[in-house]
Order: sequence, then structure tokens, then C-alpha cells
Amino acid sequence: MFDKVCLIGLGLIGSSLGHAMRRGSLAGEIVGYARSAATRAKALEIGFVDRVCDTAADAAAGADLVILCVPVGVCGELAAAIAPSLKPGAILTDVGSVKSAVVRDVTPHVPEGVHFIPGHPIAGTEESGPAAGFAELFDRRWCVLTPLPGADEAAVARLEAFWRACGSEVERMSPEHHDLVLAITSHVPHLIAYNIVGTADDLGTVTQSEVIKFSAGGFRDFTRIAASDPVMWRDVFLNNKDAVLEMLGRFSEDLSALQRAIRWGDGDTLLNLFTRTRAIRRSIIDAGQDAPLPDFGRPHGKGDKGRE
Ligand code: NAP
Repeated sequence: MFDKVCLIGLGLIGSSLGHAMRRGSLAGEIVGYARSAATRAKALEIGFVDRVCDTAADAAAGADLVILCVPVGVCGELAAAIAPSLKPGAILTDVGSVKSAVVRDVTPHVPEGVHFIPGHPIAGTEESGPAAGFAELFDRRWCVLTPLPGADEAAVARLEAFWRACGSEVERMSPEHHDLVLAITSHVPHLIAYNIVGTADDLGTVTQSEVIKFSAGGFRDFTRIAASDPVMWRDVFLNNKDAVLEMLGRFSEDLSALQRAIRWGDGDTLLNLFTRTRAIRRSIIDAGQDAPLPDFGRPHGKGDKGRE
């Protein structure tokens, strides 16, 4: 689909894209760049890129498609670094979990004639680094594109076709809407997981062994999410502040209502909510976004991949 694709950032998402492009023969050449020489060497050794460059600008030179696969907080500085070497007509995109902040930071650096089309694949795991990727990561997962007003329709359609060829289904929305939707479906759940695991840890040595021993009661599933990459998630919260705070406000109100229901023995309120939420779980399974496998108590293995 593209003669030359450049991956800036060769971690979980960058490497998975490399593997997915190989699987579908989507690129004539895949060129990579990451901050450390160790990551660049590992990417070459694994073979999901054809070559690597020592600078982002060299890697992006002459590419038809450039994909920023780095933490949200550094997208702007990398866009500035590659801007002079971007080819006219090239598509520049990203995979960041926050969209408005990436648009704010990247847009000022995009040269005339380059098509900047922000994106976010809703697929991932709690692992990171160049060895974490696999070709199937995006299969049957959504990829959201947030084209800016006046975006070139042919370029957007080309990027949509690329993501479909990587296995994704594609939807378009505005960056602001994306950030609000993802705040409740991904960002706040991650914050809750980080918080509950932190609280359990603060209980300290008295309960530590019990926390681990009996973790299959529900806690374990939070620990999977709370093991997600610290830098990536720090950047998500710093860059989607307003939407996360808005959703957290609602969350806190609802939590207070539940607290009250428990205090006053209001079983009907609890039963109504738990019945509603069970139906939501079923609709997620029906939509093909998770498997109906029983979870608590089952042994977990590599088969758990493919979720964010
Ligand atoms: P990752 O596995 O930690 O990889 C990040 C990559 O970015 C590494 O290759 C790292 O290079 C490179 N990098 C970091 N800072 C850099 C800098 N200043 N200059 C150049 N390269 C730099 O992270 P990831 O999970 O692939 O996430 C990448 C992006 O995808 C993030 O924006 C994230 O929000 C988004 N995303 C993540 C998921 C998920 O579940 N993980 C899902 C969807 C979208 P070194 O290895 O040399 O440090």
C-alpha cells in the first residue's frame, strides 16, 4: 500500500504495526527509529523493520507514511524533529491514546502539503517494548481516526484502508469526542486500577501475603491493568486532564451513592445497578470485544492479549 513506511517509536504499538505490515505485505520498506540504540538493535534483530536510523529525521526522509508510536508527551518534539525531512504528499499519523493534546502539539510543525491525520488504535496489552508486539494485536479492534477540518479525503481514506489491512475496524470522530469517550472507557478504569492496587500495597506487610494469595477474587484483574507502562499512562493523564476530571467527578458522585446504599441497607439500589452492569458485560461479548470465558480463578496465560 505504501512504498516506504516510517515507524517513530518501536515499542508495543510500533512493533505490532511492523508485524501487521509484514503479515499483509503493506509496505515496500519499513524504516524505524527509537530513542535508544538498544531498542533499535532489538527491532532489527526481531525483523519487524528493514532498517533503522540514528535520527528520527533520517528515518522519516522520503517516507509515504510516518507513524508516531511514542508516548503522547513527546509527539510534539518528534514532529518538530522530522518536519524538515517530510516528503510533500506524505501522510503523518500517530497512535497516541489522547487526541486533542497531540493535535495541539503536532499541528504547528506540519509542513504545507503533508497530511496530518491523528489516530488511536483501541488495542494493547500491559506489556511494552519492541519484543512485546505481535501481528494480531489490531485484529477486530477499533481504530479511531480524528481527521481535522479540511483534511484531504483521499489521504484519510488511504489511512483507513491501511488500518483495515492491519486487521482493524475504523471509525472517525472529533479529537474532543475521542478524549471524552476514552476517558470513561480506558483512562478512568486505568486510574481506578492504579489506585486500588496502590491502596492494597499501602496496607503493607500485615496483609501482603493474603493480597497475593487470594488475588483471584477480583484484585488480580486490576493488577493486570495496573502493570501498564508508567510513562505512557503518566502522559495520558497529564494530557487528557479535563475529560478525565469530568468523568472522575461523575464517578465519585456515583461511588458516594453506592456508599450510601450500603450504609442504609438499600439492597434494591445495589441489585438494580449490578443487574444493569451485567447486561453491559454481555453486550461487550456480543459485540466481539471480549470472549465469554469465565475469569475469576482461571489460570491466565498469553491468551489474555489484545485488550487495552
Ligand atoms: P512502548 O512500548 O513503551 O514504546 C514506546 C517507544 O517510544 C519506544 O520505542 C521508545 O524508545 C520510544 N520513545 C519514547 N520516548 C521517546 C523519545 N523522546 N524519542 C524517541 N523515541 C521515544 O509504548 P507503546 O505501548 O508502544 O505506546 C506508544 C503509543 O501508543 C503511546 O502514545 C500510547 O498512548 C499509544 N497506545 C498504547 C497502547 C497500549 O496499550 N500500550 C494502546 C493504544 C495506543 P526506547 O525503547 O528507546 O525508550
